[in-house]
Amino acid sequence: MIYNKIPFDVIVCGAGHAGVEAALAASRMGAPTLLLTGNIDTIAQMSCNPAIGGQAKGQIVREIDALGGEMAINTDVTGIQFRLLNESKGPAVQSPRAQCDKKAYQFRLKHTLELQPNLQIFQATVTGLIFQNGTVIGCRTNLDIEFLGQTVVVTTGTFLRGLMHIGQNKNEGGRLGDFTSKTLSDSFLQAGIELRRLKTGTPPRLLGRSLDFTKMQEQKGDDHPTLFAYHDTRDSAGLFHVEQTGEQRLGWTPGTNAVSCWMTHTTSETAEVVRANLHKSAMYSGQIEGIGPRYCPSFEDKIVRFADKPRHLLFLEPEGRTTNEYYVNGLSTSLPFEVQLDLVHSIPGLESAQLLRPAYAVEYDFAPPTQLWPSLESRKVENLFFAGQINGTSGYEEAASQGLVAGVNAVNKVRGVAPLIIQRHEGYIGVLIDDLVTKGTNEPYRMFTSRAEHRLLFNHGSAELRLCHHARHYGLVPASRLSRMEEKRKRVAHWVAHLEKIRMGSMTWGEHIRRLAAAPKQNSAQIPKGGRGEGSIPIELMQESVQVQDEVIYQVSYAGYLGREQRQIKKFSDLEKINLPENLNFMDIRGLRRESALKLAEFKPATLGQAGRISGVNPSDISVLMIYMRAAKAEAKPGESREGSVPS
Ligand SMILES: Cc1cc2nc3c(=O)[nH]c(=O)nc-3n(C[C@H](O)[C@H](O)[C@H](O)COP(=O)(O)OP(=O)(O)OC[C@H]3O[C@@H](n4cnc5c(N)ncnc54)[C@H](O)[C@@H]3O)c2cc1C
Repeated sequence: MIYNKIPFDVIVCGAGHAGVEAALAASRMGAPTLLLTGNIDTIAQMSCNPAIGGQAKGQIVREIDALGGEMAINTDVTGIQFRLLNESKGPAVQSPRAQCDKKAYQFRLKHTLELQPNLQIFQATVTGLIFQNGTVIGCRTNLDIEFLGQTVVVTTGTFLRGLMHIGQNKNEGGRLGDFTSKTLSDSFLQAGIELRRLKTGTPPRLLGRSLDFTKMQEQKGDDHPTLFAYHDTRDSAGLFHVEQTGEQRLGWTPGTNAVSCWMTHTTSETAEVVRANLHKSAMYSGQIEGIGPRYCPSFEDKIVRFADKPRHLLFLEPEGRTTNEYYVNGLSTSLPFEVQLDLVHSIPGLESAQLLRPAYAVEYDFAPPTQLWPSLESRKVENLFFAGQINGTSGYEEAASQGLVAGVNAVNKVRGVAPLIIQRHEGYIGVLIDDLVTKGTNEPYRMFTSRAEHRLLFNHGSAELRLCHHARHYGLVPASRLSRMEEKRKRVAHWVAHLEKIRMGSMTWGEHIRRLAAAPKQNSAQIPKGGRGEGSIPIELMQESVQVQDEVIYQVSYAGYLGREQRQIKKFSDLEKINLPENLNFMDIRGLRRESALKLAEFKPATLGQAGRISGVNPSDISVLMIYMRAAKAEAKPGESREGSVPS
């Protein structure tokens, strides 16, 4: 049967981290939205470790918050341990990270979705897409119910032809205990969308009461937790909306009643177990064809690649407050179960450990993201968007941020509005999507600070200031929050300018703050969570919110570097303004190297800036293109409109 005669504006397939943000973004923009997912009880399940944030990822979560997404606040309200990574270093490289209660995280997000106006959730597995004249118009499901939509956002994660490996043992599924999506892959292939294979893995889960914590080192969270959501710009209803409007109070006061993680390490015996059984690992016996993440290797990979390292650090991370299950961070493997037992029991504190779930590897289809426009819409099928792990990424934060952008852009497509494109200098989300659509990926892509050429601008405190113009333009946050964001921006700008004028003895306050910043160990101006020492900033600045103080001190401390970044951005932004017509025939452009022309014809970059980031396209090709575009503009008759344009 066909469920709806009037198509939804947006149908989202899959309620993982990408799907949830896509559905919330679209419905919060006022678009009638449907979220279809194979199992409503696994909404926003953390397939791997129960933690959000960390280097670069923590900044992404803050960017999601600045754009009206849910991941940050959901982490704050369900977090059980918070740590600011690199706290002793400068704010440019600090990142918040939180351990979450895995089930509370899911339940709160499910409840958020349930209460969201304009959003309908339904449990069904999407078995195929419905196409008409190269455009997607809906979805088929395993229940023989069809749903019509003007746009479809696919966020099916690791489920497309998912195959799990534990040694020689194989099970179909996107993750342990879950189903696999086979026919949906066929649907993509029929539509001409290329698919390839990737793999990832996860460690075993252990029963806490079978562990000897006296042999491990305790790792506590921070006394003063750094939360993810911008609590200073939200009103209290925005902060705890589910808790206030829901039928049941969910979550807890952010940052309270933290739990500990525990550290132990592998031994020479552990390494010996791996070496003796390497041939039985699914990875090493050649059973897995998919490519795994280099930066997050399996334990057997670590033993092979770092053969002379005597031991490897492991973290025992609790999965929640109301469970005794522990995640063993650092012990991902696809060795057979009986080998896993020996491996685990060779580790101090884990000698009698009971395994609740085995470690395993999973391989799955992904759709190479170079098949997407920067809006995350498919180049091959109109109105079809992709977000999350299906685009070749790995990680909850990477998935959630793409989901948000795809959800917003699906609505924009329906409304005929230009898409939300976050530039590379505006945030990690911009870098992530630009890397995916221009360079693609051959291995699971995760964000690192080193991927962002302007990372100095991406301190975690500034995401709202960097992105609030997008939030305003697309109506992504409530008006009350927007005006607080804008007020914050004004206060920061005022103080940054003012401190360079007002004097503190023989120097300006700006010079004084920079002097303190140059000696970070002894100065209190670097303390990120308030409590600044006397004389480190003017008393009047201390009256401002901690968030404003932090940002002002950051901008003043690094004024020289930040200024240089801004000048570089300005230089390159001219290239970003030069749009390339969609139908430009690169092969006909004289002077363009043939291999570059082929690459450009394949990727069809939207701007000259994007063309320059395609691997193999060099600066001389860009000069040729620029000359060509100038000449084309000059040739165009006055008044004649062109798709591409070159600023004079
Ligand atoms: C075993 C394993 C290990 C991992 N290890 C790591 C790691 O070490 N580090 C790391 O950063 N990340 C890791 N990840 C990846 C991380 O879990 C993902 O990056 C993240 O969850 C991706 O989010 P997503 O929303 O794209 O997809 P998912 O979270 O996978 O969600 C997909 C959703 O789509 C639904 N779905 C699937 N097919 C259909 C269908 N046909 N119809 C309807 N609904 C459907 C599913 O039910 C699910 O709700 C691991 C994942 C797995 C499975």
